[in-house]
Amino acid sequence: MMFTDRIRRWGQNLGRLVGSLSRNMGIDLGTANTLVHVEDRGIMLREPSVVAVDTVTRRVLAVGEDAKRMVGRTPNRIAAVRPLRDGVIADFDVTQALLRSFIEKAHLRRFWEHPRVVIGVPSGITEVERRAVEEAARQAGAWAATVIDEPMAAAIGAGLPVGEPIGSMIVDIGGGTTEVAVISLGGICTERSIRVAGEEMDEAIVAYVRHELKLYIGERTAEEIKIKIGSAFPLPEEQQIVIRGKDLVSGLPRSMPLTSQQVREAIREPLGVIVELIKETLDETPPELAADVMNRGIVLAGGVALLRGLDQLISAETDVPVYVADDPLTAVVIGTARYLEELDSFPMTR
Ligand code: ADP
Ligand code: MG
Repeated sequence: MMFTDRIRRWGQNLGRLVGSLSRNMGIDLGTANTLVHVEDRGIMLREPSVVAVDTVTRRVLAVGEDAKRMVGRTPNRIAAVRPLRDGVIADFDVTQALLRSFIEKAHLRRFWEHPRVVIGVPSGITEVERRAVEEAARQAGAWAATVIDEPMAAAIGAGLPVGEPIGSMIVDIGGGTTEVAVISLGGICTERSIRVAGEEMDEAIVAYVRHELKLYIGERTAEEIKIKIGSAFPLPEEQQIVIRGKDLVSGLPRSMPLTSQQVREAIREPLGVIVELIKETLDETPPELAADVMNRGIVLAGGVALLRGLDQLISAETDVPVYVADDPLTAVVIGTARYLEELDSFPMTR
């Protein structure tokens, strides 16, 4: 017994030594984008969560930016897989390939470095999926890996006082999922999530343009439209652009004007769903915490937080002040990095 104890302690010390030689790494494994933060270096990688797979052999051909570039420009047997699209790990092998490739890339392939990794994952995923992500990170070279709920990471990254006995509400709207959480004393008190977010808005724009303008556009064009002239609330100066697509009747390319009012109309439904989710979460929040949220406001993170007027819309619908995080696209990854700094005071076991 004594002997095995000593061996175990020796193993732990060795593990700690190996860990101390490496830099901590925080990862935001998002449905649309993956970001990697390396201690002392900053955000080292920011790429789409896309993997190009040969559908016949199942071989992974490209990951991230390279994979996204291949989309639509390849023979039929190559498919672009977005393994986290709906906020869950749809395809474990592909998720693992994605993580391995990004960890290696961000770490410049130094064989002696085995980072300690914290990964932000959607709070809705199952225990099995959590362990699968941790295992994937270890197989990708991590010395130790843990997951953290994305809303918690986003709240830490946005600078909310998560450790205090004060209710803070964070709303993270990404590509595939919207997550709403009320946090107090380091834990999530109320939490709701839904698979309606930025991509749903792109699809709504495609459908609107098809129906109203009889023009066929792809989802990437729709996303560009959303980013360029999209809004959730009337703009001080409404805008207009010219879009190109394929005429539904003739099948020929055609250009048409499109206004910001039309885009707002197009995305009204997904916006309504998100507002409803926030209201429901507020309803379910215990009174003291809800009062804190009403006084201190709601904080928005995720790419869709950049949609113009979204703060105004949510504030008008809930009667609660709404603020956008400083850099909504990096809140989760910055949160994982800060969480790792905290963890340094408590050695992690493998
Ligand atoms: P995830 O965490 O799911 O990977 P992100 O937080 O990276 O997602 O957000 C991606 C989503 O944000 C996409 O749907 C993208 O179109 C949208 N987005 C990015 N910038 C803007 C913007 N300026 N206005 C509106 N939507 C945006
Ligand atoms: Mg995200």
